[in-house]
Amino acid sequence: MTTLFISDLHLSEERPEKLVLFFRFLNGPARQADALYILGDFFEAWVGDDYCNDPIPQILSEMSKLSASGVKIFLMHGNRDFLIGEAFEASSGATLLPDPSVIDLYGVKTLLMHGDLLCTQDVEYLNFRKMVRDPDWQQGFLTKPIAERLMMAQQLRAASKEAMKDKVPVIMDAAQEAVEEFMRRHDVLNLIHGHTHRPAVHKFELDGTTAARTVLGDWYQNENVLICDHNGQHMASIESTLNPE
Ligand code: MN
Repeated sequence: MTTLFISDLHLSEERPEKLVLFFRFLNGPARQADALYILGDFFEAWVGDDYCNDPIPQILSEMSKLSASGVKIFLMHGNRDFLIGEAFEASSGATLLPDPSVIDLYGVKTLLMHGDLLCTQDVEYLNFRKMVRDPDWQQGFLTKPIAERLMMAQQLRAASKEAMKDKVPVIMDAAQEAVEEFMRRHDVLNLIHGHTHRPAVHKFELDGTTAARTVLGDWYQNENVLICDHNGQHMASIESTLNPE
């Protein structure tokens, strides 16, 4: 039995080919798993559970089919879809996980994060995050008409894209100091996250012991899945899991 981790799908009606890939994944390899974890930025944008234009109904129905088949689905908020709420949980069968969360992964205590909290050099973004994660701000946003919310979301994305132009790549990567601090605080030697779109497995010494940080790929160009079982973990491309040898 296996546990699968994916993140940063950035699903949107603008990239229908990725939706097709996701549905093939849900109806194929994901069916054989015990659990599927989606570590944030599942959607390109999420303006509230009450907005359910295409392709959202189909996504919900495909997810609920998977969860009805007995596969547990866990979902963590990303910086794009932090407004996913209880109605989404109910109709998808997924369970929302706080960021960060610690799980027991086949005997290995593992820290799960989206990853944006690790980018501590990006002070401007972390201030923005604090604002939009405030329950009052969210309440105010969610009570606006949907058209206004969509417009605001678009403006925020444009502003973030503009701000990223001026940031050197290192600012938008996970800071090793923050990685170590989070891992120490949660007493783990294994961390899995997404967000940075820099898929890799980083091994390093943490207080004299080997620690690992696995970064998941994005579904723009590095669609991959981390497959974990009793023997350990390995990264595979989504495509390879759809067409096993
Ligand atoms: Mn992200």
